[in-house]
Amino acid sequence: MASVEISGLSKQFGETTVLEPTDLTIADGEFVVLVGPSGCGKSTLLRMIAGLEVPSAGRVVIGGRDVTDAAPSDRGLAMVFQSYALYPHLTVAENIAFPLKVAKVAKREIAERVAEVAAMLDLSELLDRRPRALSGGQRQRVSIARAVVRRPKVLLLDEPLSNLDANLRARMRHEFARLHQQLGATMIYVTHDQLEAMTLANRIVVMSEGRVEQVGPPIEVYRRPASLAVAAAIGSPG
Ligand code: ADP
Ligand code: MG
Repeated sequence: MASVEISGLSKQFGETTVLEPTDLTIADGEFVVLVGPSGCGKSTLLRMIAGLEVPSAGRVVIGGRDVTDAAPSDRGLAMVFQSYALYPHLTVAENIAFPLKVAKVAKREIAERVAEVAAMLDLSELLDRRPRALSGGQRQRVSIARAVVRRPKVLLLDEPLSNLDANLRARMRHEFARLHQQLGATMIYVTHDQLEAMTLANRIVVMSEGRVEQVGPPIEVYRRPASLAVAAAIGSPG
């Protein structure tokens, strides 16, 4: 577990401000959900926390360490994307093991850890398959397993369920809640699905046009939206 502290973090692409200076403190083990309409800057914020995008200004501190200039692999976090990007020629087990191989973890420990996360994500029976022989939901599970196998203290998820059908999304919602408990990791989860936000979050962060509009427990934000933009983003009566 690690806290995530963002201060004065902003991003411009040329003349366009995509994220205004933003402060946000996320506690150890907290499940925070970022919501807001398409284009409001959610992915950009997440990618700057991950180190995949260079901030125009501001700092990112994870577990008390300033990681603003650290490489993505040196931040103690992992990220799950909307597109699964599995290696098609590798089996499920090999896909999950890949980050550990790169990190030169011993063979025996790799086998143990792969078995452990496979069990956690209901993949134990599928370890010898290749990605093309899996359903969309199973593929997304593999990409989550691959992200958590290094035991990240912080897990970033960018609309991880948006390519799945409604039934599967509902099932996976429960799995994320369970995964959060089992991992004890700090989770930052981007979605535009109001139900996901309301059911998963300890706190939601509502964004609009490159700004954080409101932060709070989902029920409070739902009952007392600070602006029309917030009411629209979370579907509250306003
Ligand atoms: P969201 O994830 O909330 O949909 P994004 O963070 O992806 O929003 O994008 C926010 C804004 O930044 C959008 O208007 C998008 O077009 C713009 N943007 C994102 N990446 C780039 C880039 N590399 N160059 C220029 N504009 C970008
Ligand atoms: Mg996005």
